[in-house]
Amino acid sequence: MVVTKRIDGKARADRLVADVAAATAKLKAQAGFAPGLCAVLVGEDPASQVYVRNKGKAATSAGIQSFQETLPATTSEAELLAVIARLNADERVDGILVQLPLPKHIDPQRVIDAIDAGKDVDGFHAQNVGRLWSGGLRQALVPCTPYGCLLLLRDAVSELSGAEAVVLGRSNIVGKPMAALLLAESCTVTLAHSRTRDLAAVSRRADILVAAVGRPELVRGDWIKPGAVVIDVGINRVAAADGKSKLVGDVAFAEAQGIAGAITPVPGGVGPMTIACLLRNTLIAACRRRGRAEPEV
Ligand code: NAP
Repeated sequence: MVVTKRIDGKARADRLVADVAAATAKLKAQAGFAPGLCAVLVGEDPASQVYVRNKGKAATSAGIQSFQETLPATTSEAELLAVIARLNADERVDGILVQLPLPKHIDPQRVIDAIDAGKDVDGFHAQNVGRLWSGGLRQALVPCTPYGCLLLLRDAVSELSGAEAVVLGRSNIVGKPMAALLLAESCTVTLAHSRTRDLAAVSRRADILVAAVGRPELVRGDWIKPGAVVIDVGINRVAAADGKSKLVGDVAFAEAQGIAGAITPVPGGVGPMTIACLLRNTLIAACRRRGRAEPEV
């Protein structure tokens, strides 16, 4: 029986935030500026409000300037595009993140592609997506959640090159960029989704299994190859025995014990890495825009 290691995403994220904070302090001392991150929130979705608030707090804690544009749900696409154009031209702003989802009458891709690609700290702009897939990783801004997963994998897996990696879920935000990053690490990558035949058998092939489907505990213990490293991206709120609710991942965590070599918990795994990587992207965007050497964070 395998002893399953718990991958502590919170501790890794704390280290990354500390590294970003140190590099930011150095920039301030040497170059006299602090990177700036602006979140754009359209409407009053309570979850989005919490996400934006947390991102702002995290930025401030790392010495990054935090700005916010809060717009009513009735904002037209043209009005939002005008705000993006203003932020593109604002020298204080190095990173722009548009909190998704947007109201139904606004085309999110049109808005994302209006962001200056050099300020697209979410890494969703077509130019950054293209760079990620075409080998220009060092010029790209990479989506935060999959990049956070990659950092955890680099710590947990001694040799990524040649490993059999299976990614469950093909969203633009997680699954596809995750597959691109693993391919860039020379893994053999399978990208599975809701039409994949025999998902359990496909999953069992994986030395590295990344689950990003948004289905509570879809991945059972017997889907996992003994010793595999499992990254659980899912965040699902389900009813708990005490009548309250709790968060679970896309993987049945208890069943994975004794089978997986290592696994991220939910919460405390991938979640904290996402915000830490957003701060990292903002720092990198700030350095690139000003032609400064990128700090190794
Ligand atoms: P999404 O856009 O809804 O995509 C889900 C993907 O999973 C789709 O590709 C879908 O396949 C696939 N899928 C759904 N049900 C499936 C099933 N029964 N079998 C196989 N594949 C299935 O979700 P997302 O934005 O990628 O997010 C995925 C999960 O990660 C969610 O729980 C979300 O909350 C979480 N998340 C966490 C973080 C973090 O910071 N930790 C960040 C982002 C997302 P089709 O394409 O065929 O429909």
